[in-house]
Amino acid sequence: MMYFSELTYLVASILFIFGLKALSHPDTARRGMNLAAFGMLLAIIGTLVRHEIVRYEWIVAGLVLGSVIGAAMAIWMPMTAMPERTALSHAFGALAATLVGISEYYRHGAELGAFTMTALGFEVMFGGITVTGSLMAFAKLGDLVRGTPITYKGQNILNMSLFVLTAAIFIYLIFVPSASWLFYLMVGFAFLFGVLLVLPIGAADMPVVMSLMNSYAGLASAATGFAISNNVLIIAGTLDGFSGFILSVLMCKAMNRSITNVLFGAFGAVSTSSTSQAEGEMREVHIEDVAIQMAYARQVVFVPGYGLATAQAQHAVRELGDLLESRGVTVKYAIHPVAGRMPGHMNVLLAEADVPYSSLYELEQINPDFPSTDVAIVIGANDVVNPDARDNPNSPIAGMPILEVDKARFVIVLKRGKGKGFSGLENPLFFKANTGMLYGDAKSSLSNLTHAVQQA
Ligand code: NAP
Repeated sequence: MMYFSELTYLVASILFIFGLKALSHPDTARRGMNLAAFGMLLAIIGTLVRHEIVRYEWIVAGLVLGSVIGAAMAIWMPMTAMPERTALSHAFGALAATLVGISEYYRHGAELGAFTMTALGFEVMFGGITVTGSLMAFAKLGDLVRGTPITYKGQNILNMSLFVLTAAIFIYLIFVPSASWLFYLMVGFAFLFGVLLVLPIGAADMPVVMSLMNSYAGLASAATGFAISNNVLIIAGTLDGFSGFILSVLMCKAMNRSITNVLFGAFGAVSTSSTSQAEGEMREVHIEDVAIQMAYARQVVFVPGYGLATAQAQHAVRELGDLLESRGVTVKYAIHPVAGRMPGHMNVLLAEADVPYSSLYELEQINPDFPSTDVAIVIGANDVVNPDARDNPNSPIAGMPILEVDKARFVIVLKRGKGKGFSGLENPLFFKANTGMLYGDAKSSLSNLTHAVQQA
């Protein structure tokens, strides 16, 4: 049985690696998820047959409870709440790692060697931070707690002091593992640190935070693997830890920010006071005029953003795109790496509507195309098309790469009203002479446009 268990762990680890590889492209992402899920099933089976298990009742109860919560979240939480769902998943994963760590310490306490104590310490520290940090992220994203940065005097110093104190206790415990009250104090501090760490971070930066939390949860699991000598946990945890960290770095790069700026910069607190180069009047346009522009264009580029997700307009845009293509118009979809509220948000939505991957263009590919585009249709995007990021060095988002829709011949912006983007900044694009505003919910505007193009 031991060999069988180790064999399932080996196959599961290979499946995790291939799953991750496949997740790096939208074309193969679904296969990647299935491979990783199958790997997890194998790892669970491999664990259930191990001889260390004495009773199955609690395991079955945990499996049933976890499956019920997971299924409920998958079925009832809408696509737009995907970041919140991910935050909750991280909290649960990290809670599992922390509880395993606490129970190992409770059982073996004073007899623990330096190596196992180090692994346990990492496990409960990263785990504890991730549990409360992810719950805080969930609360901020869901508006249960104010989404803007919550700051106070001496905040960074307090956080740093708490971190140093926790780390000092951890080091002491490696040498004196029997100091049980210090162990539980360290767990408490880790929980507190998770809350304090996320408080000053604005909801707009939450996806970066969550991907960092993902990384911490992975490291906590890897440490669990070392503590209880479980190979699949070490491999899966390390993969999770490093992929989460790489993703955080990539997201920061796409926003032209550093990780330290995201964690300690209180982004969003400054945004409202910043100046914008917005000048002129917003010009409202009507469905029929836009439909004619599109129907007789050579090239139309759709630029989806967060509003596409809230309106669930992915099928409506696909329908309009298909109609235009059937009339000989070249249709492209421009994807900004941080459009929406999580990495790959737009890819997932458009894939759901079966928009062919060959029609999706990344920022570097599509930007040179805008000057030869007749109409750029901005669907609920704002920050990712804000020319201030390129033209105004004083803007809080200065330097963030943008989709340069303003270089197209005509720009039509579909949004409900005068709402700001997530950064809370004014967008000069909406005031430009070649921009027209088509107000209304993105889904109904797109459906009306389809109808009007059919008549054109
Ligand atoms: P955005 O800047 O948040 O703007 C979304 C726009 O959609 C709003 O101006 C809103 O205007 C409009 N809207 C909302 N609901 C709508 C509906 N039902 N129909 C039509 N329009 C609707 O979105 P974005 O351009 O996609 O930018 C993403 C932001 O999130 C960036 O600031 C980015 O840095 C940040 N972020 C993203 C990630 C990520 O991983 N994707 C990570 C970190 C940060 P109205 O209210 O007027 O309709």
